[in-house]
Amino acid sequence: MGKHPNSRNGFKKGENKGKENINWKGESTKYRGKHMWVSRQKGKASNYFCVDCSKKAREWSNVDHEYKRIIEDYFPRCKKCHIIYDKKHNDK
Ligand SMILES: [Zn+2]
Repeated sequence: MGKHPNSRNGFKKGENKGKENINWKGESTKYRGKHMWVSRQKGKASNYFCVDCSKKAREWSNVDHEYKRIIEDYFPRCKKCHIIYDKKHNDK
C-alpha cells in the first residue's frame, strides 16, 4: 500500500491562528488599509496633535467615516476624541 497524500495533517483548521484573530475584531483589513494609506501620505497620526484637545494624536479620523482617498478628509485625533467624534457624526 502506498502512502496517501491526504494522510498529511498540515492544514488543521483553527490552531494558533484563531487566538490572534480575536485581537483583530472590529478592525477589518479594509479599515486598516485605508489608515495605512493616510499614514503613507501624511505620516503617522502620532506625529500630530489631536485637532480637538491638542494632545498627542493616535489615529486618523475621517470626516464622513467613509474613508475615501481624500487626504483633506482626515484629521489626527487622540483615541478618546476619535471615539467621541465618531459617535457624534457617524452614529447611524
Ligand atoms: Zn483629543
